[in-house]
Amino acid sequence: MIYLDNASTTEPLKSITDNIEFIAKQYYGNPGSTHIAGKSSANIVDTARSYVAMAIGAEPENIVFTGSATEANNMAIRGWASHLPSNSDGKYLIVTSEVEHDSVRKSVEYVESNYSDIDVVYIGVDEYGKVDVDAIEDIVSDNNYTTGLISIMHVNNEVGAVNDIYAIQRIADKVDWSTHFDCTQSIGMEPVNVKDLDPDYITFSSHKIHGLKGTGALYIKNMKTIDPLIIGGHSQEYGMRGGTENVLGIWAFGEACKEIVHDPEQIMAQSVRDLYNLFCDELWKKTNGFTINGNHVGKIINLRFDGIDGETLLLLLSNVGVCISAGSACRSKLNVPSHVLTAMGLTPNECRSSIRVSFSHMNTEDEVVKAADNIATFVSILRGEHRGEGMLL
Ligand code: PMP
Repeated sequence: MIYLDNASTTEPLKSITDNIEFIAKQYYGNPGSTHIAGKSSANIVDTARSYVAMAIGAEPENIVFTGSATEANNMAIRGWASHLPSNSDGKYLIVTSEVEHDSVRKSVEYVESNYSDIDVVYIGVDEYGKVDVDAIEDIVSDNNYTTGLISIMHVNNEVGAVNDIYAIQRIADKVDWSTHFDCTQSIGMEPVNVKDLDPDYITFSSHKIHGLKGTGALYIKNMKTIDPLIIGGHSQEYGMRGGTENVLGIWAFGEACKEIVHDPEQIMAQSVRDLYNLFCDELWKKTNGFTINGNHVGKIINLRFDGIDGETLLLLLSNVGVCISAGSACRSKLNVPSHVLTAMGLTPNECRSSIRVSFSHMNTEDEVVKAADNIATFVSILRGEHRGEGMLL
């Protein structure tokens, strides 16, 4: 199998899979218990919290573990809205973009329909999928709102566009508004340091950086600014997220942060960029033309082969063991054109001809070359150009 769907999820690190059984057997105590079994589990959670915090230059006491980035996004947006005093004299505003992950979109829609004093504006993107920062500035500097929240993703999960969260933070600072950045796809690839950035909330997730599924984190600058979503655990996660901690998942999150993010030489991020470039070079050589939707060198590339159906291409590739996707895994069964590509100006047909390939440092050059070969061969078959050359796995 060749796995090139790393924006969807990643293979756990060997240092994690080798030790899962040991950690599960050794640290089964409830971290909330006062006996030795509980205390040793609590130590595992504390150590992991330090690694996870360090990954974004934060202090451990500002990290709340959640079950996913989806939950962290819900918590930041719905928790912020719920905490605001009801505003009889004015209104609040949430500024978000047209290309956010569904967990942000749905949270914002929920807030809009449940709080009469909160409005929402959706900022558009350019042809590369990048959020229009000037439009954010215009809205924020010329408004009659009491206060607001700017919620924008750092790296887009479908096209890899990188947003300038530092510029967005400076806009928010001028008016003293809150910020929430969904960094689920950027951690490990783009620098995120809360000491330089000074955001209010940051979301990220373990399984996107070679940890395990079922653990996310929300960085919260000041815990008094949001209400918890899950109540009933007074001593758990600083009272911000009830439920016995997922000790194994949290440990793995810490290990992943230690290995992936604390990489001063950025060796892993560079190897991902090298694989991306190699893949593009191979595909240019072997296909009769394709378009890159977006065009950012990171771990995600979104490709368009006009005239072919992306879903059919994915199925053919899957049959020979090459795993890629058409976009976000959580929307893959919806069968509607991608909201991200649509916002970038693509037609429904262009959206349907698009696929997403995403890389990891655990991929090899050989895999990337073979995947490009197979994509090129299937594309030429689907276009009716195939003359029998080209290898299939
Ligand atoms: N935000 C972004 C930008 C994502 O790419 C994803 C995963 N597709 C999520 C949030 C949700 O992550 P999780 O699977 O941890 O809920």
